[in-house]
Amino acid sequence: MTHVSGRHFLQIPGPSPVPDRVLRAMSAQVIDHRSPEFGELGLEALAAIKTIFKTTQDVIIYPSSGTGAWEAALANVLREGDSVLMYETGHFATLWKKMAEKLGIEAEFIGGDWRSGADPDQIEQRLRADSGHKIKAVCVVHNETSTGSVSPIADVRRALDAAGHPALLMVDTISGLGSIDFRFDEWGVDVAVSGSQKGLMLPPGISFNAVSAKAVEVSKAGGTRRSYWDWHDMIAINAKGYFPYTPATNMLYGLVEAIKMMHEEGLDTIFARHQRHGAATRAAVRAWGLDVLCNRQGHESGVLTAVVMPEGHSADHFRSEALRHYNISLGSGLSKVADKIFRIGHLGDINDLTLIGALSGVEMGLAKAKVPHEKGGVGVAMQYLQETPAPGIDA
Ligand SMILES: *Cc1c(COP(=O)(O)O)cnc(C)c1O
Repeated sequence: MTHVSGRHFLQIPGPSPVPDRVLRAMSAQVIDHRSPEFGELGLEALAAIKTIFKTTQDVIIYPSSGTGAWEAALANVLREGDSVLMYETGHFATLWKKMAEKLGIEAEFIGGDWRSGADPDQIEQRLRADSGHKIKAVCVVHNETSTGSVSPIADVRRALDAAGHPALLMVDTISGLGSIDFRFDEWGVDVAVSGSQKGLMLPPGISFNAVSAKAVEVSKAGGTRRSYWDWHDMIAINAKGYFPYTPATNMLYGLVEAIKMMHEEGLDTIFARHQRHGAATRAAVRAWGLDVLCNRQGHESGVLTAVVMPEGHSADHFRSEALRHYNISLGSGLSKVADKIFRIGHLGDINDLTLIGALSGVEMGLAKAKVPHEKGGVGVAMQYLQETPAPGIDA
């Protein structure tokens, strides 16, 4: 290995760069997880994460990646043979469906073209047709990380209500939480799944289930046989700040610090910052003469932008050239769109100059990889940022 000078640009849509303050908070000596000191940390971490989900109900913290929390969500409320309605927003929605099928759950997809978030009207229609209430849950991905499309969760809630359907509303907000507004209680979400390494600015390693009283009730008699993922042992012992097994102690130090930083900046400022950076990125992409994968106005993500490669050009070759020449990691296309798109992450701990640096890496990388494009996308993004007030700075 040779040393590469300067900072690596980690511009994938998770994991996102971890702020120094969070790294420092985590570099503490491990403590006894049954000690009084740990109880205080546990209570602080559990209270803090509720403010990000915007809930007063229970939030469970698992030492696992987001995939573990996906399984926990399904296993606690659904059992073999139960029917669920899912929406094909992209690769992650597809993986969640496959997981449900592995657990023996009958998962039905509303098909999508991977270019928008979920359509609440289609969900409402399907639920109205289910007059016998066979469907036990509706599962939607909030921010589809494989495509850069956002699903309107409040409208999905309204669709369930309009259909008068009692199904649980389950939401994967693994890459949405902390970057895009999410209101667990107000939107009547029953189970929300998230992870540490995206909008929460932490390393990978812990994940979350926010759970409504209704979901907890369903889980008491229902769900798949489970032990490690069971909510009840967790909820009982969490009341005093402890966990039924060894928790990821140092990740909890990081979580408390990251959430402190988020409230210092202000959640609304963070959400507006992501929107503004998403808009600047899309302006750059269009100026390059390239297509943004999300083609539904109002669904474009502030977390990441997926860019469609011109016919006959390899997105993976472009990404490897950008990495080699400019030390920038960009997200790959997943499954159906492998090698056809690349993804620019603009989530978490970034500012205007980080974004401009990243977009410069993309523009220079396109040239190095000989991808046909117009010059000047970075200039267009710069102009957008100069002219659009920065939340928390200009306003
Ligand atoms: C990252 C991600 C996952 C998977 O999380 P892991 O931590 O990799 O297990 C699932 N869904 C979405 C929307 C994601 O962004």
